[in-house]
Amino acid sequence: MSTLPVNVEEKLFQNRYRVDAGRPHVHIKDADVCQSECTAKSCTFVCPASCYKAEGNGAVTLITDGCLECGSCRILCTDHQNIEWDYPRGGHGILFKFG
Ligand code: SF4
Repeated sequence: MSTLPVNVEEKLFQNRYRVDAGRPHVHIKDADVCQSECTAKSCTFVCPASCYKAEGNGAVTLITDGCLECGSCRILCTDHQNIEWDYPRGGHGILFKFG
């Protein structure tokens, strides 16, 4: 049995995302906590959609467009509980391509 290589980025590109302009469903509660208290910055490693980015000055930026609604960031930020997370409003967010 042979296995075909899977390109995750190609698979993710097949999804669609409806942006709810001005109403992101995931928020960083306090940016200062990320910058000055969090050394792990786990969200920047775990997010499969690369929504979080560690900046050179220690800050973390979040752009929710493309969020897969997996909830990993919310679960991993247990030390600081600095992420406010909800599902997008109806009709917005990720549209998965099946098959
Ligand atoms: Fe990334 Fe998942 Fe958090 Fe969305 S819910 S921002 S995909 S880790």
